[in-house]
Amino acid sequence: MNFGPRGALPSSRESDVMVDSDVQGVQVKENIKFTPSLSEQRHKFVLDFVRKHKPQKVADLGCANCKLLWRLKYHESIEVLAGLDIDENILTRNIYRLHTGAGDYLDPRERPLTITLYHGSVVEKDPCLLGFDLITCIELIEHLEAKELAQFPEAIFGFLSPTTVIISTPNSEFNPLFSGKTVFRHPDHKFEWDRTQFQSWALDAARHYGYSVEFTGLGEPPPGAEAVGFCTQIGVFVKNIPNTDESLHSEKTTECTHTKVGTVIYPSLKEEKYLRKAVSNEVFSYILKMKRDLLESLKMKNDSDGCDEPEYVQPECDEFKNDPTEETPKPFCIENVFYVPLERLFSFPKIKHLCGDRETLKMLIADEVTLSSDGSSVMINIVDEEDCDLNDNDGDDYDLDH
Ligand code: SAH
Repeated sequence: MNFGPRGALPSSRESDVMVDSDVQGVQVKENIKFTPSLSEQRHKFVLDFVRKHKPQKVADLGCANCKLLWRLKYHESIEVLAGLDIDENILTRNIYRLHTGAGDYLDPRERPLTITLYHGSVVEKDPCLLGFDLITCIELIEHLEAKELAQFPEAIFGFLSPTTVIISTPNSEFNPLFSGKTVFRHPDHKFEWDRTQFQSWALDAARHYGYSVEFTGLGEPPPGAEAVGFCTQIGVFVKNIPNTDESLHSEKTTECTHTKVGTVIYPSLKEEKYLRKAVSNEVFSYILKMKRDLLESLKMKNDSDGCDEPEYVQPECDEFKNDPTEETPKPFCIENVFYVPLERLFSFPKIKHLCGDRETLKMLIADEVTLSSDGSSVMINIVDEEDCDLNDNDGDDYDLDH
């Protein structure tokens, strides 16, 4: 079955009587509002899909104000994000949403992320969007002219051929539930399909290009009007035979037609300079904490002059419930220098996770800290920074028990 975009539409006269109409016996007088908004629900649908399937390369076609891209950038699995829209102005006005901020440098992502915005049409075959795991077309197809809609399946499923595609579009059966007198939900819509129209079009495309498609939707109708279906209809397409490197690049050497509006590259721990910084920050924060505890115990000793040596009291916090450092050499003090064994630092889960092995830890912090002559401990001078005279302790060396 092949539906032209306009051929199957309700006429404007039909839509004129949409207001307060009787839908399956239910009088709907108030305008329907969704909470959260339908737009947010659609984005959440994509985000849930991403959380579940963990794609690395995601493109949002018809990305408009880039809000979905902005939400997607927080997903660790994604390393490449692309947005495409035919409206260049909307891209240049909204690219700021995707720019990096101080937080991205203070707490860099584990994996790299590059976001690129392209200006162009979804029906142009541009190799820059080849090899994606997921392509989303959220409320896009109903903006396409008949000619573009006819080219769309070949451009997306045939040429770009991503592993998965999510397409959402209004379900016109729901429209009589809205009050208002417009033909379509948005003035730029060229058509709005009922479920049979959308599903026939989607099944045709899926069959032709080797995809399976499942249908769902968002925005429940009010009680009594269930038969109209969801307000937004969604097709989730999955490629039957997954792409291989070969299939991705064979016979697809067409020229680039999209123009790049901008590229944003995020800092990530895959880059050594950011990893070095992140590890050093962790190391310093642990060392300073240990040093504070040491000074606290020395102060207690001085205050209780003549009493037994101060006993180090383990701080009461979650971090020490299952103390990862228990089996490792303790920090110690010789004269005014505080030594923290690398082995102890390495036992902290975050440091272990960032470095992978002790040698890498040593290499990454080498420029930021002073290591003991045998390279086994980080050394830090105590009295330079703290108002404390260790000589009061009769030259005793102190162990810290954490
Ligand atoms: N996806 C967005 C909103 C989509 S509105 C969201 O989830 O909120 C439809 C968008 O598609 C508009 O920004 C419009 O400029 C864009 N568009 C329309 N025709 C297009 C085409 N042929 N190629 C690319 N984008 C197109």
